[in-house]
Amino acid sequence: MGDLANCPRCGALFLKGPLDVCQNCYQEEEEKFDLVYQFIRQKKNRMATVLEVSSETGVEEKLIMKWVHQKRLHPAQFPNLTYPCERCSNPIREGKLCKDCADELKEGFNDEQPKTIAEKEAEYEKNRAYINVSKWES
Ligand SMILES: [Zn+2]
Ligand SMILES: [Zn+2]
Repeated sequence: MGDLANCPRCGALFLKGPLDVCQNCYQEEEEKFDLVYQFIRQKKNRMATVLEVSSETGVEEKLIMKWVHQKRLHPAQFPNLTYPCERCSNPIREGKLCKDCADELKEGFNDEQPKTIAEKEAEYEKNRAYINVSKWES
């Protein structure tokens, strides 16, 4: 049995299970998905952006982006459907971050990511080298 929760869309109490919204909202979302899908699957609309799809179908951009994120609307089929990077809001088509942000995080600018000892040591060396260099310069 799932837990009772408030539906994030309409606030109604519902049993939280595989669905992240209540049954009513789920049905509503599915109807909207159909609308969006009917629209985007037409050849002339394949290149539409989220904004264009939203204004043509009346479905919220947020929902369309959610489906792109979930790959229900697959970016390979609809290349202009994007959603914003969680960090810098650049348009992206998969994951949570754009390539730039992902690269930056990989380089160790993210304090939330636990670092390995080797990485910490490398960083320490780098900082020390930097201090030495700036001493030289002054
Ligand atoms: Zn609801
Ligand atoms: Zn980014």
